[in-house]
Amino acid sequence: LSIGFILAMSFIMATVVWLLATRRHSLYTQLAHAIRQRQIHPHYQPLICAHSNVVSGAEILARWHHDELGFVPPDVFIPVAERTALIIDLTQSLLEQVVDDLQQGIVALKPGFNLNLNISYSHLADDGFEVFVDNWAPVFAALGVTLVFEITERENIDISEAMAHKITHIKTRGIKIALDDFGTGFSNLAFISNLRPDSIKIDRMFVRQISRDVATPLIDCVIDMAKRMNILTTAEGVEYDYQVAYLKANQIDCLQGYYFSKPLAFGDFAVFLRNYAVG
Ligand code: C2E
Ligand code: MG
Ligand code: MG
Ligand code: MG
Repeated sequence: LSIGFILAMSFIMATVVWLLATRRHSLYTQLAHAIRQRQIHPHYQPLICAHSNVVSGAEILARWHHDELGFVPPDVFIPVAERTALIIDLTQSLLEQVVDDLQQGIVALKPGFNLNLNISYSHLADDGFEVFVDNWAPVFAALGVTLVFEITERENIDISEAMAHKITHIKTRGIKIALDDFGTGFSNLAFISNLRPDSIKIDRMFVRQISRDVATPLIDCVIDMAKRMNILTTAEGVEYDYQVAYLKANQIDCLQGYYFSKPLAFGDFAVFLRNYAVG
């Protein structure tokens, strides 16, 4: 190896690292600005009860339309927010907007309607999390809405004693827990027994494997396991009628996906609720 080659390689590596760092930094700056300016809005994706066919709730999903970048997907900005404290500001801002939406009074939600909010593990681990829970629980209780925290494990982190304490705290404030993206990543069986969720969301990856004529024993087993543990099940990413039929035949509790609706801005969600025929 010549010195020249090594120098050239070092130069290229340094440039790549620098580019990545500035790119991340600029996305961070843009994100911080967008959160402050309330440019990231909650969208609502209906959750359908498989037994009664009524809309039993909605998942809140963050939507960012940037002036120049256009639509920035959550898979791009949520990881940036999670590496910094921005996820806390973002979640706070989304909840404030959700409350504004509900207080417009353009739609009356049935008592006990579930509003599912994605909570990042880094937020859960934050010292201020209990205060966050204490602040928001009474607000949603007064609106007659049941808050559900969707928790997903993106890193393999053990649930410590302090974390177990927080989970108990969430439950005593009347907030439910859903284990998100079940079956992918680190959402393992130990995580279920530590988190003691009220429901499990079966990841879209498994729902996609349902076909017209072949059984998907993995899904059947997850539903069966959940039932034995008194845990409800939701299927994510339901897009086709045969997936609905299969999941219902196998006793799923709740359905979510483009088959019913994409995530909607609140006005469109209110229209969806008014027009949704139970059938
Ligand atoms: P998730 O919590 O698993 O949310 C479900 C994702 O699947 C959403 O993607 C939703 O738009 C999409 N989806 C729903 N039904 C279908 C379907 O039938 N087909 C397909 N192909 N996709 C479907 P989205 O909104 O892009 O969000 C991606 C992820 O970003 C979420 O996955 C969640 O982990 C995270 N995320 C989104 N908003 C927030 C937020 O406010 N806070 C936190 N902490 N994470 C969020
Ligand atoms: Mg979710
Ligand atoms: Mg999910
Ligand atoms: Mg997912």
